[in-house]
Amino acid sequence: MVAERELAAAVEAVRSASALCRGAQGRLLAGETLTKGDDSPVTVADFAAQAVVCSVLTRSLGAIEMVGEETAADLADGVDGDRSALLDGVVELARRQLGASTSVADVVASIAVGASDGSSDRFWTLDPIDGTKGFLRGDQYAIALALVEHGEVVLGVLGCPNLPNPDGSSGATFVAVDGRCEMVTEAGSAPARVAAPATIAEARLCESVESGHTNQDHSAQVAELLGIRADPYRIDSQCKYGAVARGDASIYLRLPTRAGYVEKIWDHAAGKFVVEQAGGRVTDVTGAPLDFSHGRGLVANRGVIATDGRFHDEVVAAVTQVLPPA
Ligand code: AMP
Ligand code: MG
Repeated sequence: MVAERELAAAVEAVRSASALCRGAQGRLLAGETLTKGDDSPVTVADFAAQAVVCSVLTRSLGAIEMVGEETAADLADGVDGDRSALLDGVVELARRQLGASTSVADVVASIAVGASDGSSDRFWTLDPIDGTKGFLRGDQYAIALALVEHGEVVLGVLGCPNLPNPDGSSGATFVAVDGRCEMVTEAGSAPARVAAPATIAEARLCESVESGHTNQDHSAQVAELLGIRADPYRIDSQCKYGAVARGDASIYLRLPTRAGYVEKIWDHAAGKFVVEQAGGRVTDVTGAPLDFSHGRGLVANRGVIATDGRFHDEVVAAVTQVLPPA
């Protein structure tokens, strides 16, 4: 069950973090980006967006359990290199959304709210900037917030601040809850629905820009098996789930690049629910449902397949044919 006030707080939190990110994209200074222990980039905007989402949620809901991607410890590690540039940058961005009186300690404490391990029956999960590489390139990224209850996602709010819309505007927020998915743009709010082409050969397939995040050679083989000739639609972040949810694409493949990689729950929870509530289907590469009951990682799953639903089984069969055994 999702309470009205939880839904309202989640939407406000994602919209506030989206505004923060829109204002920061393309404007970061040298020293405001660092590389984490897993070699992935993180910026002052990632930390500030996590602070904003956690602060907005706790202000309206009180104490929450949050599995956030960023940790205050990574911020502290960066601090050794250049304390002032990094922390000052985070606080300055956070204050634009939370108010000028927000203290440094408040910001650090809000980031630290995200330190839950996902072992309880009910928790939030957040990727404050999913697709940081896209964010840095000036391309697509997403703010992905979900609520998980007994291992099942029950609410997904996906902010895609730079996503191009058919009317020429950019920016869409997908809100998925209780069997419906709404897409909010500056033109207003409308239901998002998946769209299936007449034949699978006409399906548009989307995947990561980054070949390190999905096996693009394997998806090309899957496309060939399915008779799909069009080039893949490559976009960063969970915007791929948004693209499937509103019919810009009908297949999203995330195929393992190496044995042993465990997908992170914050990379999929909001997006997968957005697609499902828009009428689509999401499983791992074997056709099994994504299982959010194992803490921070999708340890029981491998890769992801999201589709309009109609051709899901055919796509799983083609992927099974292409992938080497686990
Ligand atoms: P995307 O923008 O779809 O390429 O995905 C970005 C996300 O990929 C990041 O948030 C990372 O958590 C995740 N990631 C990093 N390495 C891998 C990998 N080897 N396989 C799958 N996902 C990865
Ligand atoms: Mg991510």
